[in-house]
Amino acid sequence: MAFEGLSERLQKVFSTLRGKGKLSEDDVRKVMREVRMALLEADVNFDVVKNFVKQVRERALGAEVMDSLSPSQQVIKIVDDELTKLMGEEAVPLNKSPHIPTIIMMVGLQGAGKTTTAGKLAKYLINNEKARPIFIAGDVYRPAAIEQLKTVAEQVGAPVYEEGTDKDPVDIVKNGLAKAAENKNDYVIIDTAGRLEIDDKLMDELTRIKDLAHPNEILFVADSMTGQVAAKVAHGFDEQLDITGVVLTKLDGDTRGGAALSIRAVTGKPIKFIGQGEKLDQLDVFHPDRMANRILG
Ligand code: GDP
Repeated sequence: MAFEGLSERLQKVFSTLRGKGKLSEDDVRKVMREVRMALLEADVNFDVVKNFVKQVRERALGAEVMDSLSPSQQVIKIVDDELTKLMGEEAVPLNKSPHIPTIIMMVGLQGAGKTTTAGKLAKYLINNEKARPIFIAGDVYRPAAIEQLKTVAEQVGAPVYEEGTDKDPVDIVKNGLAKAAENKNDYVIIDTAGRLEIDDKLMDELTRIKDLAHPNEILFVADSMTGQVAAKVAHGFDEQLDITGVVLTKLDGDTRGGAALSIRAVTGKPIKFIGQGEKLDQLDVFHPDRMANRILG
């Protein structure tokens, strides 16, 4: 279960409050110290933690006591509300083009889960909208990447446009888009190359693909297990590409939950989907309120 560490830690904090009467300023201070520790241990970005704790403290101290809730329940509710707010409040749907095709560009570091998520997204669109997506194989550096995309595509029943590994990916994308127009595909999902870390050459290539394709969605795919690093890398991609959304992968294995809490605050961009397993149906729409509940356990 994701967030085990964080949720256990927070529950322990709140259990010390249960049954108490009115909370004193000292109680609030103690609780906030524990919340702060819990978030830092969960690898949430330091500035994000600082702001979060400040928000909760101000609200907790200034709150009118509600008759229906005990003071401790009230603090828990404020934390719940603020966690939800931190992650963006509402689920944000995929950007759609007014005319076909809607173009989705997947970006991210190598191993983050781009290709898997491209497949999951296609399956999601096929299941929910009877969509007819086509993939474009834009990762020309790893022959295995094209094979992997083809395997995924076969599993979801969608075609792949590819030209092997010898051509400029920008040309491949251009030809792929022409193919999509000819086939009247309603979605084009562009898989792009990743690297182990951000580098100028990759960013330049991704920028050229973006300028050619004018994607409706640039989805940054982030491995949630990398915590704060995921948020930092997201910021880097956003600065270069002005991403439109984030997919957080591997939440099934993430016991800390730092990335989910930091990424929205650091980039200002919404998390749109979460990956919760290797299988192609393990993609879910991201709901900030549900995630906050999950974190609070
Ligand atoms: P890419 O290099 O960014 O294209 O990453 P891949 O799509 O090849 O994924 C890298 C590894 O992460 C593969 O072994 C995937 O099966 C795995 N993976 C991707 N998404 C998830 C997820 O949500 N949960 C788990 N447990 N594994 C995932």
